[in-house]
Formats: sequence, structure tokens, C-alpha cells
Amino acid sequence: MTQLADRTKLIKPSVTLAIAAKAGKLRAEGIDIVNFSAGEPDFDTPERIKAAAVEALRKGMTKYTDVKGIEPLREAITEKYRREYGLSYRKEDVLVSCGAKHSLYNVLQAVINPGDEVVIPSPYWVSYSDMALLAGGVPKLIPTGEATGFRMKPAELDAALTPRTRVVMLNSPCNPTGACYDRDELLAIAQVLEKHSCLILADDIYDKIVYDGFAVHNLVALCPGLRDRTILINGVSKSYAMTGWRIGYALGPADVIAAAGKIQSQSTSNPTSFAQAGALEAIRGPQDELPIMVREFAKRRDTIVSLMNGIPGIHCLKPQGAFYVFPNVIGLFGKKSTAGKQLQTPCDVADYLLEEAKVAAVPGEDFGSQEHIRFSYATSLEDIEKGCKRIQEAVAKLG
Ligand code: PMP
Ligand code: GLU
Repeated sequence: MTQLADRTKLIKPSVTLAIAAKAGKLRAEGIDIVNFSAGEPDFDTPERIKAAAVEALRKGMTKYTDVKGIEPLREAITEKYRREYGLSYRKEDVLVSCGAKHSLYNVLQAVINPGDEVVIPSPYWVSYSDMALLAGGVPKLIPTGEATGFRMKPAELDAALTPRTRVVMLNSPCNPTGACYDRDELLAIAQVLEKHSCLILADDIYDKIVYDGFAVHNLVALCPGLRDRTILINGVSKSYAMTGWRIGYALGPADVIAAAGKIQSQSTSNPTSFAQAGALEAIRGPQDELPIMVREFAKRRDTIVSLMNGIPGIHCLKPQGAFYVFPNVIGLFGKKSTAGKQLQTPCDVADYLLEEAKVAAVPGEDFGSQEHIRFSYATSLEDIEKGCKRIQEAVAKLG
């Protein structure tokens, strides 16, 4: 056996990607899987964006670009933040990377020293804790539950912050819970953060995917005093159905951005040249597709929440944003599967649903929950109805 580096033993493969791959494989084998696993819009990338990338290729945009991303894209990102949140960043304050995941990775690598604490409200997106570990950090989770709509209380944050806290991760709307902080809640959190000196990573990748008129607020716009210690993370994957293009970005203090850019210069270099041209069109062009996509997601959310709550043993909150529901399945624990196995964990339930109902969903453990399963409703209404019916039938068979 090859002796691998210790850091490889610190982390697990991404469960979201693993389950999505498993569902894809079963489908390819001809099994009729209803797939709620993938955290990606099922819509196609808008034509205007594809056309911009094709045009870039035709014009010969096939070479290395500036490591930090092409200037027009970085400028377009600063314009977007000026337009949407009234924030003024310079293009030097922006680093474009190969997806927001890569942005988060680069920034964590740039700011974490061994033993630094990374405070993460839980449930959290699976990659936060492993990225913190890879950077030598110590993840420190703040558990939240349904009673607060999966929102952390300011006092809980206050209690978690210590002199060793280097970074606090915020994600609103949240993957996997869909929870969002409103203006007052975010302000109260900002007031706690103002008393400490830690950095803040605000992962705003779902900031355009909110429902029922929910008003998204930006931490830096709300609390300018935090600007020098906040890194905003965003990308085009979710808002423009561009998951495969791999373009994300970070905006923040010039020294952090420069250090993250140095790491990028010694690892991936620039993100793909013509994908940047597509992202530029996505951000600068007409924004007509987004409201259509969000309206469609809203219908699906309403349908999945109501169908899930009709299944005995499952209880599902209605999220304000993103495209996930995170139902509680402890009502199914202790029951016996058709194969005679007692369900005891979210993993057991997800396995049972895959085997018995041919429904793929992601168990909560790697999101920090021992009680929930994540369903992405970035899939058709027909599939949502079909999948929930199958879950209902499979649950009815439990002994
Ligand atoms: N942050 C969150 C909360 C996510 O859910 C994801 C992935 N879906 C990302 C960041 C990374 O997205 P990407 O790398 O596709 O830009
Ligand atoms: N972030 C999406 C998800 O949570 C895509 C997969 C991943 O990168 O985790 O499913």
C-alpha cells in the first residue's frame, strides 16, 4: 500500500458528490432513480451565456489569463456588488477561482494556521469542515435545530468565539437547511462579531435564490465596520445554472485576496479562460432568467414540503432560500426495513430509500445532523411528486 500523506486521512470524500455519482451510475444501469441528491439547478445554462463562451473560443480566448481572473470579469463583479448592495470594491479586491468551493479553499489556506479555530454553525455544507481541516484548522460547530429554524442565536455565537477563533463561516441562505437570516438577525450576529477580531467568510452563493419576498442583506453593507475582516464568497453555479463551468469568486481585504491569489498561482493558475467569458456575460447581461428559475423553485418547494409533511415519521420545515429541504426523519428510527434492518441513523434511512424507493437523497451526518436527510428540489415537479409517493410507500412498508 502506498503511504499517503496524513492530510488525506483527515477528510472524507464529499458525500454530496458521492451520492450524486451513485445515483447517476444506477440510472445509467437502467434503474429508474428519482434523484434528489444533486445540489445543482436542473435548468440549462442560458443561451446568451453559452454564446458568449463560444464567441470567446472563436476569437481565440484559449490562453492563460491573469491568475486572478480577467479584468472585465473582476470589474463586473465589483459593479454587481455596488448595484445590489451599495458596496464599493476595487478589482484588486476580487479573486476569481474555479468555483466558489475553490474560492473558499484558497481563502482558508491563506488565513488558517495550525490549531486555529474555524467556527461553523451547524448544519453546514459538507465541505466547510473538511476544508478547515485541510488548512490545519480545528472546526468548532455551533449546533442549531428546528426550534430556531436552524438559525444560530447571537448568544450561541458569542459563547463559541475564543481568542483562538480565526474564522467564522456564515452561509445564508444555507445549504442544507435553506435557512436565512433576516436584517435584524444578521445585525445581531454582526454586533457579536464586532466585539471579536476574527475573520468572517460569508458564503452568499444562494443570495439570489430566496422566496416569498425574503429580503437578503449583506453582512458588510449592514455592518461596514466588519469590512476589513470579511471575505464575501459567491459564484455563478447556482444563480445561472453554471455548475459545470467552475467559476466562483471572493471579494475582501486586498491582503487576503492577494495571499489567496498567490496560492491559486501555485496550484490551478487562472480559472478556464472561456468560462470566465461566460461568467462575464452571466453577471453583466440581462438578468431575466433568474426570476423565472426562482418562481419555479418556489412551486417545487411548496410541493415537496407539503408532500413530505404528509408522510408519517417525517417532519419538514419550509425554508426561505436555496433549493434544499432538510426533513427530520427520527420518526422512522427504530423501524425495520423490508430486509429486516433496523433504521437507526439518517444514513440507514437514506440507504433504505435508495434500495426500496429508488430515491436518492443525502444523509445528514456529513452536514452535522444525526436526525435529518437533505433533498434537493432542483428537479422537476413530476419527479418531486413521483419521489414523494415512492417514499410514502416505502415508509408504509416499515415494520
Ligand atoms: N457554498 C455552498 C453553500 C454550496 O452549496 C456550494 C456547492 N453547491 C458551493 C459553495 C460551491 O459551489 P461552486 O464550487 O459550484 O461554485
Ligand atoms: N454544493 C452542491 C451540493 O451541496 C454540489 C456538490 C458539492 O460540491 O458539494 O450538493
